[in-house]
Amino acid sequence: MIIIFLGPPGAGKGTQAVLLAEKYGLKHIATGDIFRWHMQNNTDLGKKIKKYLDRGELVPDDITIKIVEQEIQKYKNTKGILLDGFPRTLTQAKMLDEILKNMNLKINLVLYLRVSKEEAARRLLARGRHDDKLETIARRFEEYEEKTRPIREYYYERGILVEVNGEQTIENVHKDIVDILKEKKLI
Ligand code: AMP
Repeated sequence: MIIIFLGPPGAGKGTQAVLLAEKYGLKHIATGDIFRWHMQNNTDLGKKIKKYLDRGELVPDDITIKIVEQEIQKYKNTKGILLDGFPRTLTQAKMLDEILKNMNLKINLVLYLRVSKEEAARRLLARGRHDDKLETIARRFEEYEEKTRPIREYYYERGILVEVNGEQTIENVHKDIVDILKEKKLI
């Protein structure tokens, strides 16, 4: 089973993916976490991508897709995979389709966490991660609007996208997500 978490920075994708993964024993693949790990450990990849993360820009598709393919390969025989922060461009979405097709897998559900820009910015500033500075946040929103938003349409047209009100408490968003998964008979 493959579930994608979609939504702007600050929507709660990571928080919700972790909760769901823990509850049902699913694998959580977060490209942002993987990139930050490489930066902290100063790997070759970490050195290559640092400038993008520091600026709030997207890491090039070829680098990102390679990482995700390796991760999916690793977990393809498990109960389920949650993708958090990937895909973020239409190219990534199309490449993901290819990768999954070759592994005989498919996307079962795309959860779109809807939050206003104001609420998302408030959360990011409260979180205070290295790239949660006003300037970087603004850039990440721009990147989202420009490059990630079109993916919503892509999945919506396929009938696999479900919208969740991401402005509720963490517990209520989680409950909504669990209800959707039950309704879709995915858990
Ligand atoms: P996140 O933890 O999802 O907010 O991601 C943090 C940063 O990692 C982003 O601002 C991008 O620089 C980079 N990143 C994460 N996921 C992707 C992706 N799918 N494509 C390109 N860049 C990404």
